[in-house]
Amino acid sequence: MLLTFTPYLSMHMERVKCLILGSGPAGYTAAIYASRANLQPVVYTGIEPGGQLMQTTDVENFPGYPQGIMGPELMEDLKKQAERFGTDVRFGIATRVELNDRVKTVHFDDGTSIEAYTVIISTGASAKWLGLPSEKRLNGNGVSACAVCDGFFFRNQEVALVGGGDTACEEALYLSKLCTKVHMLVRKDSFRASKIMQERVLNAPNITVHWHSETLEVLGDQTVTGIRIRNNKTNEETVINITGFFVAIGHQPNTQIFKDQIDLDEQEYIITKAGTTKTNIEGVFAAGDVQDKHYRQAITAAGTGCMAALEAERYLTEKGIH
Ligand code: NDP
Repeated sequence: MLLTFTPYLSMHMERVKCLILGSGPAGYTAAIYASRANLQPVVYTGIEPGGQLMQTTDVENFPGYPQGIMGPELMEDLKKQAERFGTDVRFGIATRVELNDRVKTVHFDDGTSIEAYTVIISTGASAKWLGLPSEKRLNGNGVSACAVCDGFFFRNQEVALVGGGDTACEEALYLSKLCTKVHMLVRKDSFRASKIMQERVLNAPNITVHWHSETLEVLGDQTVTGIRIRNNKTNEETVINITGFFVAIGHQPNTQIFKDQIDLDEQEYIITKAGTTKTNIEGVFAAGDVQDKHYRQAITAAGTGCMAALEAERYLTEKGIH
């Protein structure tokens, strides 16, 4: 007779006190705080383990590193720090969530499902790119989607920036204080940004706005040396010599799987209660870029990660879950 043995555990879904989705600065900081509070958190890394900083080189503005640190190294350190206190870091992508009950369930791409009393969503946001092969090839070598992160490397140089929204205006102004000249490439004959930001840009002596401009190619072999643009009204093509090319055409928060349950704003960022990381669902918190379209810095993400862990801990205490 053939006997099949079904382990007891496989019949029961794993249940944790704190499940953290995403492994950028917000996720790992939440994990450091949650593990030190004995919540035994489980972190699922998501599609891009380590988050957006894995794409950057030198990080010079994260406090505590006077000499700067490489993005991937910083993320590895944050991971180690979280693991030191018992965080269980796993590779996997959440594909479906059921958040409305007291015990939440999250399903992953490898077929596993986990129950959790609290969930911290720190799935981040992804920068939008133009989609040019040359943009991709020179990414990190003169092409960047973050002026605040990388502008410093182009001080006293001439740069270009694509976009006409508030982010683009803010980044153009930031760059104008460091660089000799900023070429702003706007695809229409108007900005999308708020009036005040538009005025600031138009009044900056070293920002030149190129209306109706489309980028055809980022030029350069090892590093950026220029761009080829076309005026989409006259079809005239021009080459501008620059050393830095910034793309500021918006970000897409990674909220696809939450949108039926978690309140999102019109750009699909998670809405948190002012001054907290609380979402519309009790026991579900959001930290980092997934709920922040304004600051988007590693340090602000880490700050909200800390807040989320403290709020999760308080929530568990209030509910008597030990
Ligand atoms: P937005 O979506 O507001 O703007 C994106 C800009 O990029 C638009 O000008 C758009 O052009 C342009 N764009 C999009 N795709 C392309 C493309 N393929 N090629 C060329 N240009 C392109 O994004 P932001 O990141 O600027 O802002 C997001 C939100 O955050 C907004 O609500 C903004 O107000 C807010 N914000 C507020 C700040 C503040 O108050 N200080 C600072 C930063 C952001 P087009 O207009 O032609 O579509």
